[in-house]
Amino acid sequence: MSEKTKECPGCALEVPSDSEICPYCGYEFPSNSRWLPFVAVGMIALMLLWFVGC
Ligand SMILES: [Zn+2]
Repeated sequence: MSEKTKECPGCALEVPSDSEICPYCGYEFPSNSRWLPFVAVGMIALMLLWFVGC
C-alpha cells in the first residue's frame, strides 16, 4: 500500500508508478503530459460547439 503505484486506465490494476508500460495489459502511459492541455482545450471547444449548437 505504501509503495508508489498508479492505476492503469487500461486494466484498472496497480502498476509501479515509474513503469511506462503496464505489465498486465501493455497500456502505454504517456511519459509527459504535454498533450493534456491540448486535449483539455479540444474538449472545451467541443463543449462550446455543442452548447452553441443547441
Ligand atoms: Zn494495464
